[in-house]
Amino acid sequence: MHRIASILLCAAALTAQSVDQRLQRLLRDILIFDAHIDTPRYVVDEGYKFSDEHPYYELDIPRMRKGKLGAVLFGVYVQPQDYPESAWAQRALDVLDAVHEEVRRNSKDMEVALTAADVERIHKSGKLAAMASLEGGHIIMDSPALLRNFHRLGIRYMTLAHFRTNNWADSMTDTARHNGIAPFGKELIREMNRIGMLLDVSHISDKAVLDAVEFSRAPVIASHSSVKAIAPIPRNMPDDIIKAVARRGGVVCINFHAGYLNEAAHDVYIKNRPARDAEIKALLEREKDNPKRWEMVRAIQKRYFDKMPKVPVKELLRHIDHVAKTAGPDHVGLGSDFDGISGMVPVGMEDVSKYPVIVRGLMEMGYSDTDIRKIMGGNLLRVLKAVEAVAKQ
Ligand SMILES: [Zn+2]
Repeated sequence: MHRIASILLCAAALTAQSVDQRLQRLLRDILIFDAHIDTPRYVVDEGYKFSDEHPYYELDIPRMRKGKLGAVLFGVYVQPQDYPESAWAQRALDVLDAVHEEVRRNSKDMEVALTAADVERIHKSGKLAAMASLEGGHIIMDSPALLRNFHRLGIRYMTLAHFRTNNWADSMTDTARHNGIAPFGKELIREMNRIGMLLDVSHISDKAVLDAVEFSRAPVIASHSSVKAIAPIPRNMPDDIIKAVARRGGVVCINFHAGYLNEAAHDVYIKNRPARDAEIKALLEREKDNPKRWEMVRAIQKRYFDKMPKVPVKELLRHIDHVAKTAGPDHVGLGSDFDGISGMVPVGMEDVSKYPVIVRGLMEMGYSDTDIRKIMGGNLLRVLKAVEAVAKQ
């Protein structure tokens, strides 16, 4: 009996060792590419620095290095309710400037990527590749010229609508006004295909996704969307829509927001959100000259986050696995939404230093090295290449 127990223990230790070795081997050169991280607005609003390691927020260079994060599509977003329409483009340009300026200040560690080939080259050189995206079609203010200019400044995907329906695309969290995408939106999609800008279908209504998939000549992505079959909340995607994105060759990048991964967490989040947002708004008005006001905002966010049930990282893995099983391992990726989710992260996936936890989790779920490489970033890179190929036609 004693002998059998020690043999079993020994076998377990050997397995653990080989898992570690396999993990280390993969982490040596795997491209981890996150489709959606919102840190740059903190650079503009709070003077946040990518160079320093922080005990708050979810991305900086030291933690990117720890987590082997190789490439990021940074989100440039403007909440329409926070800014008058006349200020949308200005705000977006300020946030986009922060991406370029932080890269310039940290040029030993980072480089701006404009193409898929740039991402591969920068990753091989040991630097972090920074790309930019526009979250919400309202930001281009119905102007194809603004769309083209944002592309010239490095924007590589546009989320067609954000939380609100705009003049040409229905949001999934607002009233539908266009039965999907309006004729002008179809013209914009044609222009996006022509200039090589990827379409992002996160946030838009199911019918709008189907329209985007039908009208686009290139594959589309959902840059930060989770699975409705697991957590039936409005922001998540049903299986037939996930399959439609996959049929076009696209990728669904899973959002890490604890309230999107788990319905019970979502219920608490939604119930408390109006009170939280009112508290934050009042504080920012009252303390507008206090340099510590952002720290105070984070404390409020934390207090409300603590009311939510904890969501372990294995629930995030379930969402990834579901898309891989439903649509195929070629059609799932990562779109953490870090620094866009007010600190509502899963336990074990608190910031960008934790991506290896996902690699290990996928290994333990039986995924091959080839599939893990695709899920962690290869699929997103493939779509970027396909969009560039369509633009060249
Ligand atoms: Zn979003």
